[in-house]
Amino acid sequence: MGFLDFLKGEKKLQCPNCGADGAKQLKDGTIRCPNRACPNFDAGLAGAATPANWTAAGPPAGGPLSGLLSGLKSKKGGFVPARPIAIRYRNFQNQDKEFIADADATVRKKNHLVATVAPKGTKIALSRDRIQNLSEVENALPQKVESGQPWPSPRERQVLGYHKKHGTSSPLYQKIRAKYPNW
Ligand SMILES: [Zn+2]
Repeated sequence: MGFLDFLKGEKKLQCPNCGADGAKQLKDGTIRCPNRACPNFDAGLAGAATPANWTAAGPPAGGPLSGLLSGLKSKKGGFVPARPIAIRYRNFQNQDKEFIADADATVRKKNHLVATVAPKGTKIALSRDRIQNLSEVENALPQKVESGQPWPSPRERQVLGYHKKHGTSSPLYQKIRAKYPNW
């Protein structure tokens, strides 16, 4: 209040009671003084004279800002897909849902897609039969085999999986890997 009055051009004077600078005389003659020890002390006026107090008291500008900051803070632990894709899904109750998943973190397991979805990075298994935009989604997934190329045999998959997991290699692995460079 005192700060706004100051902006409006009310002149400041010395408090007649204690002599402190920055006192103010209202139209009715009342003296407002920034000195806390003075009987004329006015908290609003003191606040204007002491920006640190003014801030700590909860300034109008601080509310929205601190709200924004706490909003960012709560989002910090959130999941942000590297390559987001929307999966439209009809659940068993015939409700349509939309999940924002990370295409790079979505894998096919039999007739399901296991996807990591925003906002929390939850892993969910979605039945392919219930995905409304299945071809769009599957086209966005990392392609492990060339289109039209046969899937590797169980033995080949085992070799590929073993060496990938252990970070090792072998002549056989190199040979299979040459066929499936994106595996
Ligand atoms: Zn005073």
